[in-house]
Amino acid sequence: MSTLLLRHAALLATFDDHRREIPDGGLFIRDGFIEQVGPTAELPETADEVLDLSGHILLPGLVNTHHHFYQTLTRVVPPAQDANLFNWLKTLYPIWGRMQPEDIYISTQTALAELALSGCTTASDHLYIYPNGSRLDDEIAAALQIGLRLHASRGSMSLGESDGGLPPDSVVEEEDFILQDSLRLIEQYHNPKPGSMTQIVLAPCSPFSVTPELMRQSAVLARQHGVQLHTHLAETQDEEVFCVEQFGHRPLAYMRSLDWVGPDVWFAHSVYTNQAEIAQYAETGCGVAHCPGSNMRLASGIAPIMAMLTAGVKVGIGVDGSASNDGSHLLEEARLALLLSRVGAGLAGASLSGEDSPPLMTARQVLEMATRGGAAVLGRDDIGSLEVGKCADFFALDLNRLDYAGALHDPLAALVFCAPVRADYTVVGGEFVVKEGQMVTLDLPVHIEKHNQAAKRLVGGGKG
Ligand SMILES: [Zn+2]
Repeated sequence: MSTLLLRHAALLATFDDHRREIPDGGLFIRDGFIEQVGPTAELPETADEVLDLSGHILLPGLVNTHHHFYQTLTRVVPPAQDANLFNWLKTLYPIWGRMQPEDIYISTQTALAELALSGCTTASDHLYIYPNGSRLDDEIAAALQIGLRLHASRGSMSLGESDGGLPPDSVVEEEDFILQDSLRLIEQYHNPKPGSMTQIVLAPCSPFSVTPELMRQSAVLARQHGVQLHTHLAETQDEEVFCVEQFGHRPLAYMRSLDWVGPDVWFAHSVYTNQAEIAQYAETGCGVAHCPGSNMRLASGIAPIMAMLTAGVKVGIGVDGSASNDGSHLLEEARLALLLSRVGAGLAGASLSGEDSPPLMTARQVLEMATRGGAAVLGRDDIGSLEVGKCADFFALDLNRLDYAGALHDPLAALVFCAPVRADYTVVGGEFVVKEGQMVTLDLPVHIEKHNQAAKRLVGGGKG
């Protein structure tokens, strides 16, 4: 039995059902779960470890709902800098095809360190390319080493160029093997219990890189074993054209035809969704991973997130892969969500004052998506808020910093409106991953050198 006491946080934002914001707040934690939440004066006075958070703001750990960790090795690749999704993919597929198992491990550590330093405690990742003996196991091992909760998606690509798909034939896998490996991973790693560190998700990559049959079979397998389903959907106009031409349906209708809707399914992006489709997301319980940075970087468009929230769709935030965002800073992504939503509102008439002017997304709405929203999207009720019985997953930021000077009349909103900063403490299940602004579980200077060497070999083309 071990206990941890947090005291005197300038503000504790719980994101519980009442959205309580508690001045001079704290938490009492036992064995990785929250036993008490409230004003410091009402908490026990001692514990095995005590942390004084005077001058800090304390929030639930952020939840990242979409990523491709391996892409940290291919940020800012020159020929992919100024391309839309399909051209960007065609440039990068052959580079990714050179990855080794070690690259998956290193890049996972990099992405998770970045996430942890931005307040994230749970991340999903979508790995859909397995060259040269790489396995999802390499990623899972790295996540356990770093100490963040991982929803590891067994992604897949089976529809190569010669069959009318987008990826080159050299990076696609046999469907029988994909399903066999999916089952192996579920049996070996999936833990659905409260406090779980590892969950498996089945995630054929996108409508243009797998067959309808693999989508169908993956859904059957996922439901037999109670794991979630995830894919990219309605990301670009190219994809919409592809779906209509190949399958005779818009993307969501295509998913419905494959039995790929329900509370156990979440889609990345969902930029090109109309009002009727948004209503279907809400009705069927499908979740959305909103990735504003990537949608801007690839000129994909503006997802109608306010309309989704109004309709009651579950929405979380995702940084997306680092080749289409180039960073894994979840607080920055939250800020981009707010700003991009307002660009959309401006285009819809918000720059003209009047009664019909659309409401603007607020900082609290964004943080809600990044915490409890993300937890709902990943199908978890043990994370996403600071409440009795939930996992002791949180992050804290020192408010006394240049970035927030002049913004302390509303420190919670400052996290979103002001320039993104690094977390001072990030804790997962009562264990410190970031302490006093430093990674506890990774020697960053050594790691960065290793990562850069791997990236150089990969992009340069050698096996090294
Ligand atoms: Zn993605």
